[in-house]
Amino acid sequence: MVRENAWKSYTKKDLDKLEKLSAEYIDFLTRCKTERECAEEIVKRAEENGYKNLLDCIKAKKPLKAGDKVYAINMKKSVVLFHIGKKPLEEGMNILGAHIDSPRLDVKQNPLYEAEDMAYFDTHYYGGIKKYQYVTIPLAIHGVVVRPDGTEVTINIGEDKDDPIFMVSDLLIHLAQDQLKKNAAVVVEGENLDIIVGGQPLKGKEKDAVKENVLKLIKDKYGFNEEDFMSAELEVVPAGAARELGFDRSMVASYGQDDRVCAYTSLVSMLDTKAPQHTACCLLVDKEEIGSVGATGMQSKFFENMVAEIINLSGEYSDIRLRRTLANSKMLSSDVNAGFDPLYAEAFEKKNASYLGRGVVFSKFTGSRGKSGSNDANAEYLGYLRKILEDNKVKYQMAELGKVDVGGGGTIAYILSLYGMEVIDCGVAVLSMHSPWEITSKADIYEAKKCYDAFLDN
Ligand code: MN
Ligand code: MN
Repeated sequence: MVRENAWKSYTKKDLDKLEKLSAEYIDFLTRCKTERECAEEIVKRAEENGYKNLLDCIKAKKPLKAGDKVYAINMKKSVVLFHIGKKPLEEGMNILGAHIDSPRLDVKQNPLYEAEDMAYFDTHYYGGIKKYQYVTIPLAIHGVVVRPDGTEVTINIGEDKDDPIFMVSDLLIHLAQDQLKKNAAVVVEGENLDIIVGGQPLKGKEKDAVKENVLKLIKDKYGFNEEDFMSAELEVVPAGAARELGFDRSMVASYGQDDRVCAYTSLVSMLDTKAPQHTACCLLVDKEEIGSVGATGMQSKFFENMVAEIINLSGEYSDIRLRRTLANSKMLSSDVNAGFDPLYAEAFEKKNASYLGRGVVFSKFTGSRGKSGSNDANAEYLGYLRKILEDNKVKYQMAELGKVDVGGGGTIAYILSLYGMEVIDCGVAVLSMHSPWEITSKADIYEAKKCYDAFLDN
């Protein structure tokens, strides 16, 4: 069943709203390239919209009532927002969940070395990347360095037009006969993704003079030493601003759209929600790209703990109230889908692929092979959602991620489903997913926002 192209249905009013949302989204992508930067921005936007820090409410033993808005931040890398609804919490929440980490190169803990009068940072990639995509493109360094005394330096180099950039080199075509015979998975090796950070020796130094010069510049400008890399989190990401794509400017090209396209639209929808019936919740987490692990990933107890705190401030806390609240909740696990790419049509099954411009994508299941690792949403829940989408004139499509047995993937959906709540994968179609510059359609961004609005208001 072919779904209609959303662009065909738009009025002038729709297009104005679509362009406004896209422009704000492009600005968000340009400024927020790491989970820390996203979390900071999310908290800022939440506070501007009347959200209070849940920790402060806990300290003050401030009871929560319908209409109250609170947020909690976890280790500066994941955030949860709650907008308390009119109905009791035990009747369940409407939850939007997305992730704010993206594939990249992480700087190692002992990164700096010199080779033949060039200085390098050694890196270790994070998440699934085609390694050959990271060579010969402008790169920026974002992150923090924490000194033993607890003071912190925030790093952002390569984004300002006057900043230098960094780069991974590649072998010139003239000498690449042997390299080009290699399998694409190893044509650029993981250990060869080291970024060039300097090429000028420090005057008066003999040994490792280029490295010494880089250290001197870092010390002078940022105030930290070589040892301080041991307690640093530096992420190497594609440099430069997000852009419009195409003569018609109908698409967005940017690093990190998996999954910031869903995170941003979920956030804006959450901030726009007025007086919800069910408590609205927006969960923006880290570490999805490496299996939702660790204290800031979806598998951590952070979310459950924060729901427990909310219940505690909304009346009498009990374990059974917590369990009922979670089990009766409904969730959209908002993550990107593989948009159909005509140049690689053989990887998709056309009837069950998602298409750029045809609206927000629902995936009943994800996983690989025989749906291994999937959350398989219930038909009853799909029926419930279709009613909401139709009533609110949201353009949507149903898709699997690629052909059967070609590959697969997962999201945070299966983790929330363990509480017994209804969960489905839902998001925006992306071309060139996990590449340095991913592509989305503005129409799908607009429809995702409409979908999340309708979901939270139900
Ligand atoms: Mn994702
Ligand atoms: Mn991903």
